[in-house]
Amino acid sequence: MLIDAHYHLVAREWYPEGWWQSVVGMYVNGLKSLGMEMAPDMVMETMIPSLWDPEGEALINDMTTNGIDKTVILPMDYWLLYGENTVTLDKQLKAYSALQKKHPDKIIAFATADARRPNAVEIVERAIKDLGLKGVNLYPQTGFFVNDPRTRRLLDKMYELGMPLTCHTGQQGPAPFRAKFGDPVHLDDIAVDYPNMMITAGHMAFGWHEQLFYGFGLKYNVATDISAWQDVTKTNFRKFCTVLRQALDRLGKDRVLFGTDNPFVSALMPTKEYADLIKGLPQNAPEGITFTEDEVNAILGGNAARILGLKS
Ligand SMILES: [Zn+2]
Repeated sequence: MLIDAHYHLVAREWYPEGWWQSVVGMYVNGLKSLGMEMAPDMVMETMIPSLWDPEGEALINDMTTNGIDKTVILPMDYWLLYGENTVTLDKQLKAYSALQKKHPDKIIAFATADARRPNAVEIVERAIKDLGLKGVNLYPQTGFFVNDPRTRRLLDKMYELGMPLTCHTGQQGPAPFRAKFGDPVHLDDIAVDYPNMMITAGHMAFGWHEQLFYGFGLKYNVATDISAWQDVTKTNFRKFCTVLRQALDRLGKDRVLFGTDNPFVSALMPTKEYADLIKGLPQNAPEGITFTEDEVNAILGGNAARILGLKS
């Protein structure tokens, strides 16, 4: 069983133009660090459109071709962050629901809403009850703490409805995103106050990974996913293996999930390649670091299936 627990289905109109410009900036800088120069206009024209897949055709095609059994798709609400009035959040959530309805065996679609929206609770409740979405993704780096009273209104509703939470942790994106909201320590209140909520801290909290692993070792309702660490596997494979080993040692093998953050890093490493890299760890890990087949199978799909209540 191979489950990508962290994927974003994206369309241009679902996100503010300012955000697309920051994505272009990140690509330009990322390419530069690989020794490649590309002008922003060129990146916008040639690379960014390949991310847009509003109906999920490219995603389903990739899953079918590469044996990816299930994908959890996480929507994002960046509108308040950019102070724009255009709101296509509703369209985004409907598209997520439509893809899940079309491929119920393959797609698990989550809802989202910026917790600062006055009607955030209604948005999420409708998305779960009427659209059939199966969890909630929060992106605090847009400007709210996950333990803020405004977020708690939303979490209360999710708790009542028995929904799991994925919370992006770690530094996320350039200004106007604020890294402080991504510190995983704020999840501690949520783990304690909502003991039956399954919480996945996205991205192993990047630079805050040690705080996450040590802080949540004994908070058994908190898991993490390994999405967006693909660059580290390329630039410093030993470091990646060390961090993953730490995650498994502190959280236990049942609380680490495979995820990619694709399509954003697909150009660097397709989903299948990252999954194969994880699968090969028992054979290929650097000297002194070991992984078992059992651990690898749990990461690649078993854990997500259990946490999301899927029949495997
Ligand atoms: Zn993400």
